[in-house]
Amino acid sequence: MSNVKQKQAQKEQHDIALEQFKMGYMMIRSELMFIDLFSEARVLRDISGGYPKNGLALVMKDGVIRCNPEARAEPGEWARAIGHCLLHLGMEHFTPHESPIEWNIACDCVVEKFLNDLKFGKPWYFGAPPSGISDEERLYNRLCETVDKSEYLGFGTAGADAPDMVFAENQSGHTR
Ligand SMILES: [Zn+2]
Repeated sequence: MSNVKQKQAQKEQHDIALEQFKMGYMMIRSELMFIDLFSEARVLRDISGGYPKNGLALVMKDGVIRCNPEARAEPGEWARAIGHCLLHLGMEHFTPHESPIEWNIACDCVVEKFLNDLKFGKPWYFGAPPSGISDEERLYNRLCETVDKSEYLGFGTAGADAPDMVFAENQSGHTR
């Protein structure tokens, strides 16, 4: 393939990724349930987010939801990922805990169980959180005492191994 053609193909890929993101964004924007949550949040699609590998999105304590332009996802997956981040904000998950990793895992499971019950969008992962999850604090306490947490992992929007809630105030980057 010539250089020009290669560039053209790359651009088309980027355009498709952007189109799919936009469609997903419109999907969640038109969902009544999320309207109030949007009043406190801002969705950005920017390259400088410092996303983990395969990460779709990160949510900042100040309400900024950063979406990874390099990530490929279907519109339903974007809608679901943005909804997931909105729910972290709406369910007041930004409360410090002694074990932040376990707290994030517990919150991911509660959010995804909620979205599963609602049948909203399309999960970007395989499987589903274990049944019987209702309360973040209770699950958090259980996770802190559980050695093998594997069945609870992989339900965050930042990829399999990274927390998707960013507590540090100065990491939003949108002012830089
Ligand atoms: Zn999450």
